[in-house]
Amino acid sequence: MLIAANWKMYKGPRETREFLDRFEPPDGVDVVICPPYTSLRVAVESGRAVYAQNVHWETEGAYTGEVSAAMLVELGVWGSIVGHSERRQYFGETDETTARRAEAALAAGLGVIACVGETEQEREAGDTEEVLRRQVGVLPEHDGLVIAYEPVWAIGTGKTATAGLCQESHAFIKTLVDTRVLYGGSVKPDNAAELLSQPDVDGALVGGASLDVDSLTAICRAAIRS
Ligand code: PEP
Repeated sequence: MLIAANWKMYKGPRETREFLDRFEPPDGVDVVICPPYTSLRVAVESGRAVYAQNVHWETEGAYTGEVSAAMLVELGVWGSIVGHSERRQYFGETDETTARRAEAALAAGLGVIACVGETEQEREAGDTEEVLRRQVGVLPEHDGLVIAYEPVWAIGTGKTATAGLCQESHAFIKTLVDTRVLYGGSVKPDNAAELLSQPDVDGALVGGASLDVDSLTAICRAAIRS
């Protein structure tokens, strides 16, 4: 089981250090911390597996505000999230740019958690499988690639996919690509065990509930029991 904590734009270096000084996940679960760029160094110093929340496809160049895979490698970062729905929604991220980011990161030796998932409108229109096929289809096949299935309507909304629906989408994704698939979307200590016990759920990408040490620890415990 893999539990990835996406801290979004929360926790600068001081709060990151305080969190990681206190954080003692149980053995038997892989944990990845994804803090904002400015907290990566402190997070790496803690000895934990650390991923960035995004990565550019070029090694260097005139790309204001971007960070390359080589720069993350130099810092001791293990990987990066790509294609998060907040990047797609607010920053014009597309399937194509997500794929380019994933390819460059994997080529540099980083791990990648690539996010896919349908919007509420797409689900209601019966387009979920088509959307997943398109989003997963552009990604490179690679041992370092992990998919996070994150239905957009479940992210940060408190609406969680039912365990059955989550299992159904994960099983479908696994017909498209042979890799681990994490679930993301309002995962919390009280729903983690049920979601993580689904046969095709290999872990979780956790946003809001990963910001509190006790809550993230409880989700990690639920992962071992599942
Ligand atoms: C996320 O940011 O990937 C996420 C799933 O957020 P939340 O757990 O807050 O819904």
